[in-house]
Amino acid sequence: MESIVKADLCVVGGGLSGVCAALSAARNGLRVVLVQDRSVLGGNASSEIRMHVVGADVHGARPGARETGIIEELRLEDAARNPQRSYSLWDLLLYEKVTAEPNILLLLDTDCIGGDVQGERIVAARCVRHSTEESFRIEAPFFADCSGDGRLGFEAGAHHTIGRESRDAYGETLAQASSDPNVLGSSILFTARDHGQPMPFHSPDWIRHFTRDDFYMRSPHAYEYGMWWCEWGGHLDTIRDNPAIRHELLRCALGIWDFIKNSGEHPDSANWAIEWIGALPGKRESRRFLGPCVLTQQDLQGGRVFPDTVAYGGWPIDLHPPLGIDAVKEAPCSHFNLDGLYGIPARALYSRNIDNLFFAGRNMSASHVAFASTRVMATCAVMGQAVGAMAAVAVQSGAFSVAAISNPALAARVQQILLKDDAFLPGIRNEDADDLAQFACAEAHEECETHPASAVLDGTTRATPETLGPWADGGSHQWRSRSLPADLHLCWRYPVPLREVHVTFDSGLDRSLMLTMSDHYNGRQLRGPQPEVVSDYELIADGTTLLRVKGNMHRKRVHRLPEPVRVEKLTLRIHATHGCSEARVFELRGYA
Ligand SMILES: Cc1cc2nc3c(=O)[nH]c(=O)nc-3n(C[C@H](O)[C@H](O)[C@H](O)COP(=O)(O)OP(=O)(O)OC[C@H]3O[C@@H](n4cnc5c(N)ncnc54)[C@H](O)[C@@H]3O)c2cc1C
Repeated sequence: MESIVKADLCVVGGGLSGVCAALSAARNGLRVVLVQDRSVLGGNASSEIRMHVVGADVHGARPGARETGIIEELRLEDAARNPQRSYSLWDLLLYEKVTAEPNILLLLDTDCIGGDVQGERIVAARCVRHSTEESFRIEAPFFADCSGDGRLGFEAGAHHTIGRESRDAYGETLAQASSDPNVLGSSILFTARDHGQPMPFHSPDWIRHFTRDDFYMRSPHAYEYGMWWCEWGGHLDTIRDNPAIRHELLRCALGIWDFIKNSGEHPDSANWAIEWIGALPGKRESRRFLGPCVLTQQDLQGGRVFPDTVAYGGWPIDLHPPLGIDAVKEAPCSHFNLDGLYGIPARALYSRNIDNLFFAGRNMSASHVAFASTRVMATCAVMGQAVGAMAAVAVQSGAFSVAAISNPALAARVQQILLKDDAFLPGIRNEDADDLAQFACAEAHEECETHPASAVLDGTTRATPETLGPWADGGSHQWRSRSLPADLHLCWRYPVPLREVHVTFDSGLDRSLMLTMSDHYNGRQLRGPQPEVVSDYELIADGTTLLRVKGNMHRKRVHRLPEPVRVEKLTLRIHATHGCSEARVFELRGYA
């Protein structure tokens, strides 16, 4: 049975890029269909693969660079609601967020197998759900391929590439002398647990047998987390050869565990036993689409910010040998650190030849070398949020083609939507003409010299230490009180009609924050509500309380009032935080 489904945007792939694209588009008013071939959302971050989400702050080594917007909302809520670090609860958080949006139709267990194309446009995505014996023809003016492998775009004929370019292709010093089809390999993770008593491991006979020499450059430690370097298959076709890659990775994972348990080299593993082993290879690389702009090594190393920057990255260029674990004499990864953040332009997130195709995630338009940084999941998430905003502007402006988004006026509109939705864009400030706070002045009884009340109106919602890039001004961009409770006021010269109030709190962007099975990385962060976040507050209009909030755990809160109020003095009264002894606020906005 075929169902025809109509939407404004069809997103294929429910990894972090697809989830964020769908949420962003839906929250900006589009009817969205999200097609995901698995039973859970999250892609490589889901309980099926269990990779932790890293990004531009490089595990906290670049303080202040942590991504905000939808990914921050997810991380903060996960840390508060899931202190036990359950990946199943993380899956369910993503599910809850997506299904809570009335504008999203979520099709789980549904494979996109191609698209119907007319001229240079996709008119419908073709999808099947075997478990219910259904097929779907999803018709939409715009599509976003966030599937990693890029099945929709590939079937539709979108220009793409696979493998490593030659040094000459883009003049990249980190590229190969000559091009080849090799990619980063795939991995299967396992997790293990200490049972407090000896736990033998009887190894099956079909596994790989490793010796100490095989781990010359690799260290089998962190039994609770698994070995990300259990990587193989980058010399094969990671799409068509996936079954063979899976089999070899299972042999490798069990072989590593056999070495740990039975070689005598790891006596500390005596009480440990495998708890979970992945059934799906986590795939690092396959197709990369080509947009009007292909991001390169020079863009990353130069910290380039584009006029149409809609997202950013900052993870090192993180290259791996395609042979993975079989490249015994090579390090499992080579990191080339970046001096600061780099921008991701809108033009790297849409197709150069298919008029209505956006993409985000590991299949974005980047050289192999640049992809080695853009591929990490917090970067994929902010690209996804950007694509959702781009689609919203494309639909709402009546654009025929994705290329319209690089028009300066539309690009600026996308940027302002993203900032309003708490994304961060290097060097770009709030200039939203509808924001009534732009016409107010900010006052506080208590303020520090370095953190004045006026900072909540300066258009930047995080501290910008110079380590973030040449555009960073070193400012705190934050009002901070000296004690609690504390009041912050927005004052207008005449009453304004207020219907919506936006508040952005501090959430500790100097620390890393992610769900991880690694005890080492987990030890560097705080699970639970973040101490800087304001938990209890009130909004007061000219002396009358509009609303009270208790137990907030989020950085960005949007309060839509039941009806507009006319106000000359709006007060944010902060009663308590989750641990900090003072109030910290980055921004206040108001809308009619
Ligand atoms: C072993 C490993 C270790 C890594 N380490 C890290 C790390 O530590 N931190 C980090 O941030 N990143 C890490 N990465 C990189 C990161 O996981 C990926 O680059 C990232 O997941 C890409 O996100 P995505 O949303 O583009 O794709 P994915 O996470 O792959 O999500 C794509 C989703 O689309 C679905 N899909 C695919 N095809 C279809 C289709 N035809 N129809 C419907 N749905 C489809 C897939 O099932 C999947 O759920 C690692 C990757 C691997 C494999």
